[in-house]
Amino acid sequence: MNQEIWDALIIGGGPGGLAAGIYCGRSKLETLMLEKGSLGGQVVEYEELENYPGFRRGSKGTEVVGSMAEHAKDFGLQIEKEEVIKIELEDNLKVAVTKSGKKYYAKTVILALGAKPRFLGAKGEKELTGKGVSYCATCDASFFEELEVMVIGNGDKAIEEAMYLTKFAEKVTIVIRRGMTEIGANKVSVEKALANPKISWICHSTVEEIKGDGIVETLVLRNLKDGGLSEHTTDGVFVFIGIEPKTSFLSDLIELDSHGWIVTDDKMETSVEGIYAVGDVRNKYLRQVVTAVSDGAIAAVAAEKYMEEQEDFRERVLNSQKPVAVGFWSMDKKESAVVLEEVEKIVNETEGSVTITKIEVSKKQELASRYDVKEVPTVLFFEKGQVINRLSGSFSMEDVRSILKNF
Ligand SMILES: Cc1cc2nc3c(=O)[nH]c(=O)nc-3n(C[C@H](O)[C@H](O)[C@H](O)COP(=O)(O)OP(=O)(O)OC[C@H]3O[C@@H](n4cnc5c(N)ncnc54)[C@H](O)[C@@H]3O)c2cc1C
Repeated sequence: MNQEIWDALIIGGGPGGLAAGIYCGRSKLETLMLEKGSLGGQVVEYEELENYPGFRRGSKGTEVVGSMAEHAKDFGLQIEKEEVIKIELEDNLKVAVTKSGKKYYAKTVILALGAKPRFLGAKGEKELTGKGVSYCATCDASFFEELEVMVIGNGDKAIEEAMYLTKFAEKVTIVIRRGMTEIGANKVSVEKALANPKISWICHSTVEEIKGDGIVETLVLRNLKDGGLSEHTTDGVFVFIGIEPKTSFLSDLIELDSHGWIVTDDKMETSVEGIYAVGDVRNKYLRQVVTAVSDGAIAAVAAEKYMEEQEDFRERVLNSQKPVAVGFWSMDKKESAVVLEEVEKIVNETEGSVTITKIEVSKKQELASRYDVKEVPTVLFFEKGQVINRLSGSFSMEDVRSILKNF
């Protein structure tokens, strides 16, 4: 194959992807980032970023992510403007197919695709975003100390964020499409919100327009029962009608939850080994810059480890000219190490026609799961890169001898 093979391919250039880029670059991995728009992700869409540790009040989001991008480039991150529309697996490689028709090959992939809040689509919304219209209470609530805000949304997120806003705002009005008996949030949250004296409700209404001269001033609502319009003075409009990952193009390959978020383990690895997901796109509790960069760092380190394991195993086992016995043992089960010592003695009796490699499972979890090692000790017998026999749990040294006889 004439194609360049990257160590790591990062898809998406928001904070999660950029942090992964810094860590990959620093580990000297040949890393390419594919970003469909401008670097920085969602952060470039809002003015201030005041809760990222080390960047104090008045910090500009664009400056923070701009600095992350320069940092990643300093470590050798390469960047192409491309939109990825498909990920494929080819032999041991991952392939990113782009809208422009190109294919990029890599040993590992880090998906940092982010997410987008669902917009109301109301007149004035776009112009006043960041000027009183917000999609993130954790990010912006403190700007509304002792002011009045309106929250749009009917689900858990809307009610929880409204409760959070009451710590700052003087008055929080929740606007819902349905009646009070049909609120889509969980009962406990609703009961707490109903008991909160700072919260009031407007039912059966949708947003028609957000008005303001450079900053939010009023919200125009349409009553869904009689079609009438009403105008309400407010300092801020918080919209919580959902947040969407753009992951449908991955659903054939990678496990997604019922809302389309990518499922990962604590190393950020997805259901496909060597493919990681970081930041807002993954199924997680808190979607913020600080958690996205943390995910990016973890994924990059995990990707590097994965590659090391792959290379080492390929050299010693899969490409070996001689048959190899691969013994899995565990620190937590010391007897497994003792059994493998016995196995090693018997393998050594072959005077080099069979070799042995021992693997401690907690350090090589990916390998253990790839070969379905569920208990220790387990011995896999490889010939020409294929497992041709295996022994697991309690087996005798006679069992080992009889397998070795066939080599
Ligand atoms: C209005 C608003 C205000 C916020 N305020 C704050 C705040 O004050 N503090 C805070 O910590 N967080 C805040 N957040 C949340 C924060 O911005 C996100 O948590 C963070 O940006 C997530 O980073 P990410 O790298 O996961 O994804 P994103 O920032 O969403 O970046 C994803 C990138 O991937 C690219 N991409 C997507 N799909 C593809 C594809 N198929 N091919 C190539 N490229 C692709 C996108 O173009 C984008 O650049 C706010 C969010 C919003 C919407």
